[in-house]
Amino acid sequence: MQLKIKKEKDYENNKNYKNNIPFFNINENNKNCGICGSYFSDTKIRNLFNSKTITIIGCGGIGSYMAEFIARSNINLILIDKDKVDFTNLERQNYNIKDLNKNKTDCLKKKIKKINKSISIENYNIDVTKYENLQDILDESDFIVVATDNMESKKKINEISYSLKIPTIFLSAYSNIGEIFFTNYSKESSCFNCFYNKKNDSHIKLKQVGVIPTIPTIVSLNALNIIYEIFKNKKNEEKFINTILRFDFANINITKIKFNKNNKCEVCNDGI
Ligand SMILES: [Zn+2]
Repeated sequence: MQLKIKKEKDYENNKNYKNNIPFFNINENNKNCGICGSYFSDTKIRNLFNSKTITIIGCGGIGSYMAEFIARSNINLILIDKDKVDFTNLERQNYNIKDLNKNKTDCLKKKIKKINKSISIENYNIDVTKYENLQDILDESDFIVVATDNMESKKKINEISYSLKIPTIFLSAYSNIGEIFFTNYSKESSCFNCFYNKKNDSHIKLKQVGVIPTIPTIVSLNALNIIYEIFKNKKNEEKFINTILRFDFANINITKIKFNKNNKCEVCNDGI
């Protein structure tokens, strides 16, 4: 079957696009479509991914690009951010000049719906540090991505994710450094609070030295690859727990920093 798409109304009106975005179908019938096409044209993976929901908290340099690629992967989304698009965001975030002064999650939702209409997208323009019913929103997630720019929000989300036992990945970037920390809150897994504290607060470093504009995007896509691995096989979670992946992109250097669960951690050390 050859699909012909020339205009948006072709996309809207064709029943073949109802459940899958067009290029997935095209790739299924085109064996020469390249590595990416082969990967996502696998019906099992495509349907598996479409059964999952990822919540992104923080739709800045990391979260805004990750949201787009999650949508292109046919995975459902919940977007959370309190901010409106500012002129200074255009340097490294997935917004354009027409988005200025509008809510980030509204802009992202609108953009992503033009890419993939077959996924569901919820968005919340809320401050997670003040919002009381955050647990109710996060409870719908299969996976949580934390890409906020302050320690207070990360600590609060860590506590809620721990209580819900939802796999969560914490992402940060400063200067030419990117950091990825994953936890599944199993009894073997350290949580965000086990390691991160004021001494190694990447956000203080971010305020001091800024960040190279490409780094947040690279961090987000590396993290999404980890999520693919986990969605394909839950056992892969074990590969990523108790480790901080630190990327030094100026020197093309990846370090795995191993650390064990902190048995004095006030979040995850509850005798489980
Ligand atoms: Zn802990």
